Amino acid sequence: MELKDMDLSGFKYTCPRCGGEYHCGCESCRKYNEGDGLTRSVMNGNDISCGYCGHTMSGDAWLDSEGEQIEAYEATQGGEESE
Ligand SMILES: [Zn+2]
Ligand SMILES: [Zn+2]
Repeated sequence: MELKDMDLSGFKYTCPRCGGEYHCGCESCRKYNEGDGLTRSVMNGNDISCGYCGHTMSGDAWLDSEGEQIEAYEATQGGEESE
């Protein structure tokens, strides 16, 4: 199965615990996520904490969580022909 162009523009990655929208707080993302009053995740070594509830997981666990959320999002987008 080939991946079609997935439109992830409507996808929001959220904290699995509190549902707060995830904004990466790493140095390269900070400049994009700064200045808009956004609550950023807090990087602490290999761990990342949710900026809302403090939920802490390893970076890998966050990536796994994001992958699951993208899959779930795709499932809601798939199956429907929009054209
Ligand atoms: Zn949270
Ligand atoms: Zn980042």
